[in-house]
Amino acid sequence: MSEMKPACSKYFGPSTRTRAKCTHVLTEQNVLKTTSKRKAQSISSKVATKAGKRKLQVRYEPDNWREVLGNIRTMRKSLNAPVDVMGCERCTRDNFTKREKRFHILVSLMLSSQTKDHVTYAAMSRLIEYGLTIENMIEISEEKLGELIYPVGFWKKKVKFLKQAFLMIREEFDGDIPTSVESLVKLPGVGPKMAYLTMNCAWNKVVGIGVDVHVHRISNRLGWVKKAKDPEQTRKQLEDWLPKELWKEVNWLLVGFGQQICLPTTPKCSECLNNKVCPSAKS
Ligand code: SF4
Repeated sequence: MSEMKPACSKYFGPSTRTRAKCTHVLTEQNVLKTTSKRKAQSISSKVATKAGKRKLQVRYEPDNWREVLGNIRTMRKSLNAPVDVMGCERCTRDNFTKREKRFHILVSLMLSSQTKDHVTYAAMSRLIEYGLTIENMIEISEEKLGELIYPVGFWKKKVKFLKQAFLMIREEFDGDIPTSVESLVKLPGVGPKMAYLTMNCAWNKVVGIGVDVHVHRISNRLGWVKKAKDPEQTRKQLEDWLPKELWKEVNWLLVGFGQQICLPTTPKCSECLNNKVCPSAKS
């Protein structure tokens, strides 16, 4: 068997002296062995990388979510949760133009944070009676606006936010509400949840899931998200596996479900159709 030059940094030349120092002289046989070993290692590492990539691409999808969602639909059949009768879409009136309705929906969402639906609804009714147009809202004094929206949560702060938002809407958006999430969140007091809900309800464009405290809490309880710390994490995780055609419905379903059964501190698990499959069910 002929001796071959090894691919080894310790082999410096053909002299016997140099070669004697090198313990890595290879024969054809061990070249073959080494090559196939390297090939095998390289192939197995490629396979491992591919498998790793494949593993990363596997989307999380909770078991039995369709059954759970179906049960929630059944529990929500009566449509008598506060969100059904006083949610943001109910805070406007049929006789307004589409543009006015969009404006009303945005204002109701801005009023709704940290506020019960019936309190928001009552404030919106007073604003509509006063004349909830962009022109009137530019003219209205902070004092009068405060009177009209009181007692929504953080009403003093909301008066400031609303006044700034009204000006921006007139100056930067030609008197209509912004048309994208990116523009909506530029308005003071408008965060991602409000922006996605505004897109869903005011523009009828589903570009993301509106995740409020109910959607966030229930998604965690049901194991639909993994340790999501805030509504934004919940939104991203839900959007990863929930089919897009359900994004609008899931907000409305879970908000009402959270108002009536899966309550924040004392969920009514004994009345819940999901109590056999929910990982957070209390007996
Ligand atoms: S079993 Fe209890 S915790 Fe689980 S979804 Fe139903 S009410 Fe909520």
